[in-house]
Amino acid sequence: MRRTMVAGNWKMHGSLQANRELLDALVAAPRPACELAVCVPFPYLAQAQALLDGSGIALGAQDCSMHEQGAYTGEVAAGMLREFGCGHVIVGHSERRGLHGENDAVVAAKAQRALACGLTPIVCVGETLEQREQAQTEAVVGLQLDAVLHLLGAQAEGIVLAYEPVWAIGTGRSASAAQAQQVHAFLRERARHHKIDADALPMLYGGSVKPDNARELFAQPDIDGGLIGGASLKAADFLAIAAAAGSH
Ligand code: PEP
Repeated sequence: MRRTMVAGNWKMHGSLQANRELLDALVAAPRPACELAVCVPFPYLAQAQALLDGSGIALGAQDCSMHEQGAYTGEVAAGMLREFGCGHVIVGHSERRGLHGENDAVVAAKAQRALACGLTPIVCVGETLEQREQAQTEAVVGLQLDAVLHLLGAQAEGIVLAYEPVWAIGTGRSASAAQAQQVHAFLRERARHHKIDADALPMLYGGSVKPDNARELFAQPDIDGGLIGGASLKAADFLAIAAAAGSH
């Protein structure tokens, strides 16, 4: 039985008041039958840590440095995230890859640093629309995954993988359940070739997941939950998505 998980990526959204309202609503709701995590902006880690204390909802961040510590102005070390109670950190989100020039090697190094600090890296892979239209999806996500698996070896069994087609993120245009399943199955097979226990590897789908499409996506055999952007900012939507994941 693989772990089922729904993680919220708040991106650069939030305020002390809005966070409190959102987290209070999540904490007050009955726990879904899946792991639940929220990945908040760095300045709100302490607030979220306090509000989530004892709730069973995991705390995460959206990025970490590939370095342990040092002269890296503006960066945040995985060890610092750990000190604020983080259990997870997203690495290689397409917005980091695209807007901040993070390549596969950097993403792999970040995943390695996260694991070294006791964090579960949620490693994102995904193709652009242009790459999909040129039938390069498997080549692109395969190489993105290879970089992580090569560096981590057997340690890669400690990651969570997230397939997030770039064209589906924040666009309202989700991959169809069949499209997502096809890529998830490909990624699991790829992981199997690296001799890790691919059947146990949690794989999340991300990209315009909403309450009305979550159930069909999560019903796919290789989709173990979701990484949720926009809909994670609304408690009712996020909880409905978590309930959909928990029902499989
Ligand atoms: C994301 O930011 O990881 C994401 C999947 O965003 P959205 O759900 O808004 O498409």
